[in-house]
Amino acid sequence: MAKNYLKLQFYSYPRNQSFARDAVAAFCLELNPSLSDLSDVKTAVSEAVTNCTVHAYKSAPGMVTVECEIEGCELHIKISDSGEGIADIEKAVQPFYTSLPADERSGMGFTIMQTFMDDFSVNSVKGEGTVVYMSKRFKTEVENA
Ligand code: ATP
Ligand code: MG
Repeated sequence: MAKNYLKLQFYSYPRNQSFARDAVAAFCLELNPSLSDLSDVKTAVSEAVTNCTVHAYKSAPGMVTVECEIEGCELHIKISDSGEGIADIEKAVQPFYTSLPADERSGMGFTIMQTFMDDFSVNSVKGEGTVVYMSKRFKTEVENA
């Protein structure tokens, strides 16, 4: 099957988080995903988009871009912002690390993305922004049976 591609751009308002999550889920439907795979993707997208709202654009809303590509039975997702950026990525991806402990964040967003998806990586430049890449290989109907 030919590749399929989706690009969404929206402001980092909290009310757009569910929109982004559900749009990506709808885009995946051509792969006949199991409910479990779909739920993993929705959770991972929610975590990445929430990070844009909460961390990248702390002081004022900014633009978030979500790109998805379906290639065979794989979904590739790229979520980018042009916000604050991350100074120490190695530290940021550690389970339970949060730069906002006073806000009762648990520091588990990146760990959840890593656990729920098959591939995960982050690139960031302090003061310029952050890009999160994630991929998931959807099981075929035979594997799901
Ligand atoms: P939780 O996701 O459990 O609510 P959290 O958002 O702090 O807590 P992670 O999602 O794992 O935890 O992110 C870890 C840290 O990485 C954040 O505390 C923040 O410092 C930084 N970070 C994550 N995403 C971004 C981003 N898009 N822009 C700037 N900093 C980010
Ligand atoms: Mg988070």
